[in-house]
Amino acid sequence: MSGALTITLLGTGSPLPDPMRAGPATLVAGPTSRLLVDAGRGVVMRLAAAGVVPMMLDGILLTHLHSDHINALNDVITTAWVMSSEPREIAIWGPVGTNEVVNGIHQMLSEDYRYRMGHHADLNEIPRLRVTEVRGGDEFRAGDLHIRVGDTDHRPVEPSVAYRVTDDDVSVVVAGDGVPCTSLDELLVGAHAYVQTVVREDLVRLVPVPRFQDILDYHSTVVQAAETAARAGVQTLVLTHYVPAPAPGSYEEWRALASSFEGDIVLGDDLTAVTVTAVK
Ligand SMILES: [Zn+2]
Ligand SMILES: [Zn+2]
Repeated sequence: MSGALTITLLGTGSPLPDPMRAGPATLVAGPTSRLLVDAGRGVVMRLAAAGVVPMMLDGILLTHLHSDHINALNDVITTAWVMSSEPREIAIWGPVGTNEVVNGIHQMLSEDYRYRMGHHADLNEIPRLRVTEVRGGDEFRAGDLHIRVGDTDHRPVEPSVAYRVTDDDVSVVVAGDGVPCTSLDELLVGAHAYVQTVVREDLVRLVPVPRFQDILDYHSTVVQAAETAARAGVQTLVLTHYVPAPAPGSYEEWRALASSFEGDIVLGDDLTAVTVTAVK
């Protein structure tokens, strides 16, 4: 048997609001299992568009705890909770700090829990969340998929991680924000696809606002993502989390900046998807 993994860019946006781009979130689906990586703005709507409701997820993987990557996690949790006819565990993996974030979500939702359990006789417990804090080198299974964790460099945001998801002989690495680093290179060895959040350095430099310039030192540029992909020898580079949002008709410009990578480059609107197999 040979594996296949489909990567769907649920949200290609960034903290900058955009009516057409949801916040960072990526769906990785094997033949029988589905994983959500990050849960940015609007993720539940984009999941629905991809034919997935939160209760169908086998796990949620968080790359780091920046608000743009987790600000719709509460929506994923409550939607899975109210749509499940029986208590169902939601498994969440994330870097150290994830427990504190999830405890905060429980606290934020405590009034909602009280209303709904008071109103629905068959809703007797708050969402069952199983949180596992992970570190580089950890391995685990979610559904039928194998996952390996690698540290990434998004300093001063620490810790931050990338996930290598494997189905049989196919592996994809989904990285969150961060600059190139050896631990990400190691996680990518032998992988088939690499998903990286990126910024356009040339365009960011045109905006003389210090808070905007600051983003350059802890995000991969398109050029850096291409260099990482080329070093790793992956088949496919998937770009997401565009800063700034690509102007209409400008995807070729983005692609041109990644020309040091000779494999397939995937970027596009929300819900752009690519299926990766071991043999092209
Ligand atoms: Zn981000
Ligand atoms: Zn970040």
